[in-house]
Amino acid sequence: MKSKFFFPDGQNSALVRKLTKQYSVSTVCQEARCPNRGLCWENLSATFLLLGPYCTRSCRFCYVKKGKPSEVDYLNIDKFASSLANLNIKYYTFTMVTRDDLPDHGVYYLKSLFYKIKEAKPDSYIEVLISDLGGDYKNLYNLLKDKDLVDVLAHNIETVKRLTPLIRDKRFSYEKSLQVLYNAKQIRNNVITKSSIILGFGEEKEEVFETMDDLLKVNCQALTIGQYFRPSLKNIEVKKVYSDQEFELFEKVALEKGFLFVKAGKNVRTSYKAYEIIKIIDSLKNLK
Ligand code: SF4
Repeated sequence: MKSKFFFPDGQNSALVRKLTKQYSVSTVCQEARCPNRGLCWENLSATFLLLGPYCTRSCRFCYVKKGKPSEVDYLNIDKFASSLANLNIKYYTFTMVTRDDLPDHGVYYLKSLFYKIKEAKPDSYIEVLISDLGGDYKNLYNLLKDKDLVDVLAHNIETVKRLTPLIRDKRFSYEKSLQVLYNAKQIRNNVITKSSIILGFGEEKEEVFETMDDLLKVNCQALTIGQYFRPSLKNIEVKKVYSDQEFELFEKVALEKGFLFVKAGKNVRTSYKAYEIIKIIDSLKNLK
């Protein structure tokens, strides 16, 4: 039977697969069973899942494996970075599992990797989707303080305030996530901040608009809105599937409210067409 997805079997997909095996990293495209993965990989856009594959938290919508975290491969950072730098990619997107077991929540690893990539490819861009780094300002400061290392700092609010305790691991909170985004802009004004809302958990439209307002209050500049698809029976069920017209409405409202960059749609995930933000990054580079 023909797959309904673009299966990742082309040359570039093979390259991404090779890298993930060689350095024991995975892509969030695989871990989260993203429906766009074949298409993205062929365009050499893959979101690498760092510090994984095991996450120390258990959000109820998430398919990333939970369990005892793996050893961090500090020794191969240089090799991994140079392999990444050799890929025909200008805009790198990374995400991470939450590492509550590490005192710095993984910041040293992230920074070391990004330094090496930027050293080899100074004209590249880096977007990283982070955990809340334990809610520790010092960790965020260490990640962001260096000018031009991280271009886009993403931290996902995921859902509306009312549903956060039901959907997310108890160690996350709606307010803490807003604080992460607020702090990021305080630390470095020229970093673009980004967040994502997943729909389909039983939220009301008004609550989604309120979440947009809350994100704008902490100066979050980019937003993605996507549909939740239950990845397995262990995950929370889908309460509603939104129509394309409803996603169009959310995108229109978010732009009118003041986000600089918005992508909304059924298959949209945090890194969806992320590279389109380059123009905005360049225009902010002269600040601070
Ligand atoms: S923190 Fe939650 S959403 Fe993020 S990888 Fe872990 S379980 Fe998934």
